[in-house]
Amino acid sequence: MSKILLIGSINMDLVVVATRRAHPGETIFGEQFHIIPGGKGANQAVAAARLGADVHLVGAVGNDQLGKQAFTNLQAEGVNTNHIQVLSDVSTGTAHITVAEGDNTIIVVPAANEKVSPNQVDSVRSLIQDSDIVLLQLEIPIETIEYIVDLCTEFHVPVILNPAPAQKLPLALLEKVTYLTPNEHEVKILFPHETIEQLLKRYPKKLLVTEGVEGVRYDDGENLIHVPAVKVKATDTTGAGDTFNGALAVGLSRGMELKEAICFANLAAGISVTKLGAQGGMPTLEQLHQLQG
Ligand code: ATP
Repeated sequence: MSKILLIGSINMDLVVVATRRAHPGETIFGEQFHIIPGGKGANQAVAAARLGADVHLVGAVGNDQLGKQAFTNLQAEGVNTNHIQVLSDVSTGTAHITVAEGDNTIIVVPAANEKVSPNQVDSVRSLIQDSDIVLLQLEIPIETIEYIVDLCTEFHVPVILNPAPAQKLPLALLEKVTYLTPNEHEVKILFPHETIEQLLKRYPKKLLVTEGVEGVRYDDGENLIHVPAVKVKATDTTGAGDTFNGALAVGLSRGMELKEAICFANLAAGISVTKLGAQGGMPTLEQLHQLQG
């Protein structure tokens, strides 16, 4: 079984559905409330675990009810939680989501996720060394990300960095990672002065730009390649990127060629948008195989 290590965020999403947003100082009634597991680290761990990989998630939650719910969900999904710290002086990370007027507004409180430190990473050095691939996002401190990437380089373990949520990053960090998987918006924040075509040429077999319903673009060292998205009836695209990254890690860790791994991830992400919720639509390996016929 391929071994995938995620070091990243664990959140619970607190979702309010209302007919409109409250104005400053106003109180209104909402229509629904849901508590849903989230956080890019946890989401991508679940995506990879459903596809049959041996997945460890390293992160932190608070010693509270939401942290317990996050744990229960990860364990039910078969994600190894042995290296998730439970911290008593901070709450579990939360995303406060209001769905109103056909759109989402989101406030994320990182809380425990901000405490994922190089020290904690040091305690899982052997896990890093033992992994087929390491998968990272940007919801834990950047100094921790830099520390992990340096260890991966030292141990010759490939690392995928999904640079989300979008923020500027040191070029040295971007150069060190094995694969970089921004969406179109993130790539513009990372590299504001170049076109996507220039960047794909500069980072062949490394920069994979996801373009939603358009699919994925990368350079195979000779040509610019466009892998179209699968044709599906999209219900909710939340978590498409998380499914793509989790599945990409699974494909690469199983020894697939890059193009094959991208097609595998595209298919998984395409299926995920047909159902509601970030984790709700993430397919299992069986579902994927059934669709491949
Ligand atoms: P999100 O933030 O919503 O999780 P993202 O912006 O990080 O996603 P996208 O580029 O929107 O990532 O989508 C990732 C991948 O998911 C795409 O490259 C594609 O393979 C698949 N995908 C997204 N939307 C669709 C769609 N409507 N139909 C089919 N596949 C889709």
